[in-house]
Amino acid sequence: MKKWVYLFTEGNADMRELLGGKGANLAEMTNIGLPVPQGFTITTEACTQYYKDGREINPEIQAQIYEYITKMEEITGKKFGDLENPLLVSVRSGARASMPGMMDTILNLGLNETVVNTLAEQSGNPRWAWDCYRRFIQMYSDVVMEVGKKYFEELIDKMKAERGVTLDVELTADDLKELAGQFKAEYKEKIGVDFPDDAKDQLMGAVKAVFRSWDNPRANVYRRDNDIPYSWGTAVNVQAMAFGNMGDDCGTGVAFTRDPATGEKGLFGEFLTNAQGEDVVAGVRTPMKIAEMENKFPEAFAEFKEVCANLENHYRDMQDMEFTVEHGKLYMLQTRNGKRTAQAALKIACDLVDEGMRTEEEAVAMIDPRNLDTLLHPQFDAAALKEAEAIGKGLGASPGAACGQIVFCAEDAEKWNAEGKKVVLVRLETSPEDITGMKASQGILTVRGGMTSHAAVVARGMGTCCVSGCGDIAMDEENKKFTLAGKEFHEGDWLSIDGTTGNIYDGAIKTVDATIAGDFDRVMGWADSIRRLKVRTNADTPKDAKKARELGAEGIGLCRTEHMFFEEDRIAAFREMICADTAEEREAALEKILPYQQKDFEEIYEALEGCPVTIRFLDPPLHEFVPTEEEDIKKLADAQGKSVEQIKEIIDGLHEFNPMMGHRGCRLSITYPEIARMQTKAVIRAAIKIKNDHPDWTSKPEIMIPLVSDKKELDFVKDIVVETADAEIKEAGSDLEYEVGTMIELPRACLIANEIAESADFFCFGTNDLTQMTFGFSRDDSGKFLKAYYDTKIFENDPFAKLDQNGVGRLMDLAVKLGKPVNENLHIGICGEHGGDPSSIEFCHRIDLDYVSCSPFRVPIARLAAAQAAIKYKDEDKKKQTLKDIEDAKKAVKAQAKEAAENLADSAQAGLAGIKAGLKEAKAAYNAAKNKDNQ
Ligand code: PEP
Ligand code: MG
Repeated sequence: MKKWVYLFTEGNADMRELLGGKGANLAEMTNIGLPVPQGFTITTEACTQYYKDGREINPEIQAQIYEYITKMEEITGKKFGDLENPLLVSVRSGARASMPGMMDTILNLGLNETVVNTLAEQSGNPRWAWDCYRRFIQMYSDVVMEVGKKYFEELIDKMKAERGVTLDVELTADDLKELAGQFKAEYKEKIGVDFPDDAKDQLMGAVKAVFRSWDNPRANVYRRDNDIPYSWGTAVNVQAMAFGNMGDDCGTGVAFTRDPATGEKGLFGEFLTNAQGEDVVAGVRTPMKIAEMENKFPEAFAEFKEVCANLENHYRDMQDMEFTVEHGKLYMLQTRNGKRTAQAALKIACDLVDEGMRTEEEAVAMIDPRNLDTLLHPQFDAAALKEAEAIGKGLGASPGAACGQIVFCAEDAEKWNAEGKKVVLVRLETSPEDITGMKASQGILTVRGGMTSHAAVVARGMGTCCVSGCGDIAMDEENKKFTLAGKEFHEGDWLSIDGTTGNIYDGAIKTVDATIAGDFDRVMGWADSIRRLKVRTNADTPKDAKKARELGAEGIGLCRTEHMFFEEDRIAAFREMICADTAEEREAALEKILPYQQKDFEEIYEALEGCPVTIRFLDPPLHEFVPTEEEDIKKLADAQGKSVEQIKEIIDGLHEFNPMMGHRGCRLSITYPEIARMQTKAVIRAAIKIKNDHPDWTSKPEIMIPLVSDKKELDFVKDIVVETADAEIKEAGSDLEYEVGTMIELPRACLIANEIAESADFFCFGTNDLTQMTFGFSRDDSGKFLKAYYDTKIFENDPFAKLDQNGVGRLMDLAVKLGKPVNENLHIGICGEHGGDPSSIEFCHRIDLDYVSCSPFRVPIARLAAAQAAIKYKDEDKKKQTLKDIEDAKKAVKAQAKEAAENLADSAQAGLAGIKAGLKEAKAAYNAAKNKDNQ
């Protein structure tokens, strides 16, 4: 029989796939002798089985859970539902990768009215007993039965108002008892049955709820954002309760061994006395700093400090821990590698190397590349900030600067964002349901909650600026307004917040791009020395190209020339070209565009300082450029000497039913070769100029033909390019070299890549189109139906963001395998959006691409992801290299053998000829002698 349940004493840190991160670490902490309330973990496989069984826990798993309850009772000496010594447990989720706040937790499970009465009596602390019970009913109702939290919160608020108190802790035992009664009545009203009294029933309900929570909408969004597969499932941890709410000698806290915002070494965290775990993270009360714990609980604090140091040394990483103090005694409830800002991640990685805890390679491997772009997020312009005066201050919970219009709920944040507005979400506190609204916001400001509150943790993970716990705000969420520093703010008012300092400013403050150096450069340097893949950028303007260079781009992998035509001074000439009737008219219009293009290319080459630049010829359907406004149509008609009607007719003629599969890509150059001619001239003339200006820059311009599906298409356009380029080079008396390659972005191109490789100097995978054409999904419309695909679990990710390795990736792999043997100098890259996505970059490494190309701000992510791929596949790559070396050696031996055989054959032939000649001579001599004898 399969083992579905493990005691903490049966696991270890290496079992995170099976026990989840929390379960594996609870086991590890138990193994190293830390004070952990004991319990057991139900495996991630049980979760997967629960879904296989139609969302039911099958009898075999149930039986094992019951068996382990008995074991736990033996270990703790307590018993479920017992009146003498009742066992109360917490039930928490714990996936393989940590997903803070995404799934559900239930505390104090095992209570019923009789047990509470006994506990109240035995402990002499009825307030505590009733507090536990009302919390349990509240959490169980919310998590297991999905009765909204708010009904219970309303009852609490009502009770506090009636008693004239503001804090939960001011409610008496009798108040809480009454509250528990009200909660149960609320439960019965909503669910229709009594609140369950049997501890085993409660437990099974809770385990089911945790399994179910793996599939809740916020967990699904989080998984998509963080590349966590649905198939992993979550484990469930059942742990004996330690109570932080038994009085003033009790408490609970969350702490990090280093500051998760800055990376600074030192204990960092928050603590609440007389409270239970969720109070700290839920932001219901604003907690005190961890250092203050020393005064309240000196012994527990001393032990805690030691535990922290032990854990950090043990895991060789910054730890994020939850703990409880019960009557002065410390209990560890969890430890994990802490989530951190990108800035902190870099500092911690460097510090761990300097402290001798990690190698450079390990340091590179431990940074989440997706996090890095938060570093590149804007900050307030220093001068503008000097002028501004802060009107309030909260906690700088997630760094960066944000300014936007105020909204008061997540739905509005999403709605306004979709309308193109920048928003700052202002809330009393956030909860996991707010995640999509938080994502849609420039920044988040909360009235309640500390550095470990939901808003702070989630915002840091997303790299969104957040100021939390600004208690000075008098909030009126219902009427969408708040007051701060004597001023009333309404929906739509502008607000600026600084997630580093916690400052809040009235109005909009200008922001500027971040500058990066120090730890960032150091880590990037290590990454660069490890990675094999080169990293280029997709840039169409000198400004983007410069930015990308600053961020470490080693070339341009895609310069989309069409973007250069949209500017005011060029679009007119471009429209003339599109609406031309004859080749002459078209050439005349192109002649006007040529100097602009040439200048653009010169500036881009300059910005790239001799690094390779791939320029892609015109790609999109022409109708994208035609005028739609009456006034512009008239202007064009006048410029062309045509009537408005004629122009409209031409525009109508450009209409296509399926433009993405229409007159675009290389097809444009096939119908209008003069476009390719003009673009070649611009590329080559610019390159000759730059070569003359910088004779030491050696890179060759790379001309890239889009949307090729057949070798003959490429040959046709290539002939135009070569003829034009060679003429330009000859005329300039230059020795410039250049390359002509193609995008591989159609499935057919992958299938016949060996043929195309005969004519191409390079391939570059256009995975945006390749994904579109492989799936048959319109890249512009797929957003409309992808949500349904996620909901039905047909897809876990957007294939336009994360490469579909099974299908699109397979085509790419095939193209590489077909192309490289035909042309051993063929260089191959990728320039679709996937070139900046870490898991896709890993795939590109594995199929032996030469480079990835991505937008400028993703360059650092790509550098790091490429290094991580090299680290991950080090052994596989070594094997591959050995096989390649053997293959090369075999080839060399074969070649030598062939040569030797040929030489041998030659000498044998020569020998034979010699013998023949000798024989002939001998024969002649013999005949001569014979003749002499006869005479
Ligand atoms: C692609 O198709 O992946 C690509 C890079 O080209 P574009 O996005 O311009 O079609
Ligand atoms: Mg494309």
